[in-house]
Amino acid sequence: MNSTKIPFLAAPAYSHTQAWVDALQKNLPDEQIVAFDSMSDEDKATCKVAIVANPDPAQLKQLPQLQWMHSVWAGVERLISDLADTELKIVRLIDPQLASTMAEAVLAWTLYLHRDMPAYARQQKQQLWQPREYLRPQQKTIGLLGLGALGEAAANSLLRAGFNVIGWSRNRKEFAGVECFAGTDGLPVMLAKTDILVCLLPLTPDTKGLVNAQTLQALPRGASLINFARGAIINDHDLHIALDSGHIGHAVLDVFETEPLPAIAWHWQHPSVTVLPHCSAPTDRETASLIVANNIRRYRSTGELPVTVDRVKGY
Ligand code: NAP
Repeated sequence: MNSTKIPFLAAPAYSHTQAWVDALQKNLPDEQIVAFDSMSDEDKATCKVAIVANPDPAQLKQLPQLQWMHSVWAGVERLISDLADTELKIVRLIDPQLASTMAEAVLAWTLYLHRDMPAYARQQKQQLWQPREYLRPQQKTIGLLGLGALGEAAANSLLRAGFNVIGWSRNRKEFAGVECFAGTDGLPVMLAKTDILVCLLPLTPDTKGLVNAQTLQALPRGASLINFARGAIINDHDLHIALDSGHIGHAVLDVFETEPLPAIAWHWQHPSVTVLPHCSAPTDRETASLIVANNIRRYRSTGELPVTVDRVKGY
């Protein structure tokens, strides 16, 4: 049994702390996993590694020996910003189950747009019996913004369903069956070919507001958008204008700058928007705690850290 306790730290109102402590403890029987609130001053003074879910930075600062933390979420932009004045290393969750859940969501909502479900729902309200033109998936091109852990899994599931898949990343990827674009020059080229744009980018200083009037204008008229990444990647005002003008046909939005989405937000009532409550790919506690446990076990036995977040790139 390792005598140095490993705390789980989450946001103050988080209701699943004990469930995480139990799941992590089950997978790390030689460690003592504890909720931060139950740590003594001595526990805090000796703690070197923590497991976190949107922690309060003030609590992290009470751990003077802390070297690194393992997030149980895939997106860590808030952690990077909260810890900007520290050297602490951050490991984010990379979980094949999460990628598979996201790939399922991307396929489900791509099919929703591909089969014109928003239009048929509107027609039903008008009691309008009117079949729309059918296009095969091979006649539709899905453009992925981001070809990382989640983008790659999404590309594979879209390919299996028969869609044309193209993708954009910072560094050009080699990806069987996917036409790949990279960098500022590659983006408008990809957008011009895209029928449904799917955002799976991390939120960084470079990607904040990346989907703006100019980006949206580069899409063909009537193209659709799915945002499963972070709200602030989209310029909300520019998207509203593009939807009102019909340049963007429909947007499926799972993430917003303010969550929960306020009651006064325009998105709720807009006929060309589907609002989802940040549900496209929730972390699976069972698989995630096993991955975190394996990473911590390796660190304890070899001193080796898993791949850490690049603070300069922001992901
Ligand atoms: P990842 O493995 O780090 O992949 C990020 C991808 O974005 C990479 O392909 C990267 O390019 C690309 N990228 C980053 N900055 C770029 C830039 N400035 N220009 C062009 N490409 C850029 O991340 P992931 O695991 O796939 O996760 C992506 C995001 O999904 C997370 O950060 C999180 O915010 C979000 N997410 C949402 C949910 C949800 O439920 N809605 C759930 C989980 C995650 P390179 O490959 O060239 O580096």
